[in-house]
Amino acid sequence: MKIPKVYFVLPCYNESLCLKETYESLRIKADILIQSKKIDKNSKVVFVDDGSKDDTWKMIAGLVDKDSIVVGLKLAHNVGHQNALLAGLMYAKDYCDVSISMDADLQDDLDVVDGFLKEYGKGNEIVYGVRGDRKTDTKFKRYTAQMFYKIMGHLGVELVYNAADCRLMSKKALDELSNYPEVNLFLRGMVPLIGLKSSTVEYERNKRIAGESKYPLKKMLSFAWDGVTSFSVRPIKMVLFFGFLVFILSLIIMIYALVVRAVGRVVDGWTFIVCSIWLVAGIQMISLGLIGEYIGKIYSETKRRPRFFVEEVRRR
Ligand code: UDP
Ligand code: MG
Repeated sequence: MKIPKVYFVLPCYNESLCLKETYESLRIKADILIQSKKIDKNSKVVFVDDGSKDDTWKMIAGLVDKDSIVVGLKLAHNVGHQNALLAGLMYAKDYCDVSISMDADLQDDLDVVDGFLKEYGKGNEIVYGVRGDRKTDTKFKRYTAQMFYKIMGHLGVELVYNAADCRLMSKKALDELSNYPEVNLFLRGMVPLIGLKSSTVEYERNKRIAGESKYPLKKMLSFAWDGVTSFSVRPIKMVLFFGFLVFILSLIIMIYALVVRAVGRVVDGWTFIVCSIWLVAGIQMISLGLIGEYIGKIYSETKRRPRFFVEEVRRR
């Protein structure tokens, strides 16, 4: 088999504290892989600057000047991890045989790359990095993440358990991914939809080498929520289910109201009426909120806005 030209893709948002060490580790890893003829000597490391506010782009530009293995993409403004990653992958698609995406904070153990290439050699077009134990994550993060994968499973969304965005994709898989024009990106749900031959490699997830997580709880929750509403129509079906439930409930209440009236204790119904008004209003509002969520998605999909805009490409 031909030695693959590998493009590593790393989205970076305010990662000036990590970049140098990440670059050095990747350089060493790439050298070893090139020397052992596992990857082509024209392989690249693509840093995508996701509209950082610190020195990230300056540092990337410096690395490009110093070392021809580095390619820098500067996005015009912050578009979030998923969009930045896609920008990098879509750039890599036109040059590489294989892309490997990972975080710029080196939380993903670099040795996973060996496993990826081995699986690629066996004819897999997509190889998912699967986190072994999540020792280095906080208990809270571990628990919520596990719950997320379970809930998604119940909602009928095909996800690879514990696989995040550290994965290998062949050019063929990338070409296919480029045919998904959706705006609400949830890559770990989209990649399994491609359906090419795939496998998994387990790896350890380390602590972030420097700086702090760009995924605070708020962003994490909104990401999970995006995952649910971009991939599952079950919540909207549940509205119908609740509708039926309320209808049946209202029949029972009607019978009850008639009985109370027959007995003659009419004024007593006040508490009950107030309760039911509030209950129904609450359910209606939840339903409307859910429908609104989907209408919002339809709205943004129909706008067909570009998902990213590469302001500048720098390479040698
Ligand atoms: N990131 C990005 N844009 C953002 C937020 C994050 O490109 O708006 C990048 C970030 O630089 C890192 C990766 O996405 O390379 C994962 O983010 P982080 O490590 O903060 O998330 P965590 O590992 O804590 O879930
Ligand atoms: Mg991280």
